[in-house]
Amino acid sequence: SKSLADADPDVFKGIQGELGRQQEQIELIASENIVSKAVLEAQGSVLTNKYAEGYPGRRYYGGCEYVDVTEDLARERAKQLFGCAFANVQPHSGAQANQAVFFALLQPGDTFLGMDLACGGHLTHGSPANQSGKWFRPVTYKVREDNHLIDYDHVAEMAEKEKPKLIVAGASAYSRHIDFKRFREIADSVGAYLFVDMAHYAGLIAGGVYPDPLPHAHVVTTTTHKTLRGPRGGMILSNDVELGKKINSAVFPGLQGGPLEHVIAAKAVAFGEALKPEFKAYAKQVVLNAQALAGVLVERGLAIVSGGTDSHLMLVDLRPKGVTGKATELQLEHALMTCNKNGVPFDTAPFTVTSGVRLGTPAGTTRGFGEEEFKQIGHWIADVVSSMNGGDEADPAVIAEVAGKVRELTRRFPIYG
Ligand code: PLP
Repeated sequence: SKSLADADPDVFKGIQGELGRQQEQIELIASENIVSKAVLEAQGSVLTNKYAEGYPGRRYYGGCEYVDVTEDLARERAKQLFGCAFANVQPHSGAQANQAVFFALLQPGDTFLGMDLACGGHLTHGSPANQSGKWFRPVTYKVREDNHLIDYDHVAEMAEKEKPKLIVAGASAYSRHIDFKRFREIADSVGAYLFVDMAHYAGLIAGGVYPDPLPHAHVVTTTTHKTLRGPRGGMILSNDVELGKKINSAVFPGLQGGPLEHVIAAKAVAFGEALKPEFKAYAKQVVLNAQALAGVLVERGLAIVSGGTDSHLMLVDLRPKGVTGKATELQLEHALMTCNKNGVPFDTAPFTVTSGVRLGTPAGTTRGFGEEEFKQIGHWIADVVSSMNGGDEADPAVIAEVAGKVRELTRRFPIYG
């Protein structure tokens, strides 16, 4: 049959455009990464043709002998990578993995405690707009106003007061280590489940450079596409095999039909990559790079929420420069650097505008950037932001100059060549 270029030139053109964008821009979105060609190949394989409702060895369709092998590889590698007893690799996304945990452990109307979205939590941790907030009763904890760190005494007080059935730890915009042991103590003190959503940190945890939640949590979810550098998808882990059975039923038939076996095969490939020693070095470099970037931004007069980072990401507070997250995201994009606007804790700007941008190093580190390159990037960001002079637009001459330097850098560190 025909190639995509011949069969559907319009879609092909869109994909080529996106490839070019990824090749020539510096990706600073903290939740993104650049997967290997092996991961792409597995995901783009004939496994997309296969129905395989159920789990390996217990399917509702014939012809599953090969997808049983690839799904088992994904599960076994996941367990090995995170040193745990149970893995479900079928959730189509991080949000669906979280939904499955709620479905398995809570009843509609049950109270649970999660991190406030405005303080770095995720929509699926109880936002009023999300199912977790509509069908259950979320109560939230915040970070401290003075240092932007999780206040564990406040979490314990909230737990004592609200008696949640489940406590969520994990975040989308929290740059510091999370004390999972303390969270478990708090959960135990009120008889709650501890559910850790490690989506952002999974690759760092696999690489041994971020605290490991598995010894403490009843259940852990993750996306597979962020620091873990796999295909877009979700996964659920636990050390409690009995609880795992409930999770399996919640994913299928509770929430999903046929698993995406092509994506699951790509997850297996990514977990195989993460088991190699090189991945430990990668994870370490991701954090060193984030610290180098944060250091330059502070030096250049920008504020970093909590003062710095222990992870792959940082939240830049733009208020010292008098500019918004919305305007900064756009001006940086003109200069070929991609990031996202993000509220800072206790932000008074509307969430469509925000006072911050979130920056991350996972993608840049994958293409080979080290601390020197990230320091350079920090200066370019500061150049663009400073030239905005408290307004919405950067100086076009500065944008042109920075974009030229970005092009030169991305050419020196090519991807998908
Ligand atoms: N959990 C956390 C902490 C996240 O940051 C995200 C994604 O941003 C998700 C869950 C949801 O993942 P997905 O976008 O795959 O549904």
